[in-house]
Amino acid sequence: MNPMLPVKHITVHHDGMTPFLANDENSSKVRIEKIRNAHRGKGWGDIGYHFVIDREGRVWEGRPINWQGAHVGNRNEGNLGICCLGNFDEQAPTAAQMAALERQLKILMTMYGVPRSRVKTHQEWPGAKTACPGKSLQAQMISMRKGSRLA
Ligand SMILES: [Zn+2]
Repeated sequence: MNPMLPVKHITVHHDGMTPFLANDENSSKVRIEKIRNAHRGKGWGDIGYHFVIDREGRVWEGRPINWQGAHVGNRNEGNLGICCLGNFDEQAPTAAQMAALERQLKILMTMYGVPRSRVKTHQEWPGAKTACPGKSLQAQMISMRKGSRLA
């Protein structure tokens, strides 16, 4: 893995697997480990995301922040990746999950001086051919950035 470069962007993802309805800690742990194993199966050093947020609003550490992530094709330099567990083409994120995502974004934006204009979703990257983070999370991200919530 490459060392992390100065943080300029934050990108929001979903896991895009089958719908995920569990709220307990162990089910989240199993799901994250599944993602991590899939990413390691591609020859990556660790899970590609820096943080993972579950349906109960728990924020899990993914790849340690001192390492560059692997979550947007060719655009991982200085790009923090946050993944919300679930498939938001087929389900909606929970209120707890959205509250935790908003809180985590604010913390990281403040910590690294990232403006709202550089908080993107995966599909918003030029050339990204993906539905990630799914219709319902995409809509919620658009409204979160519109208001003063991420100012
Ligand atoms: Zn993605």
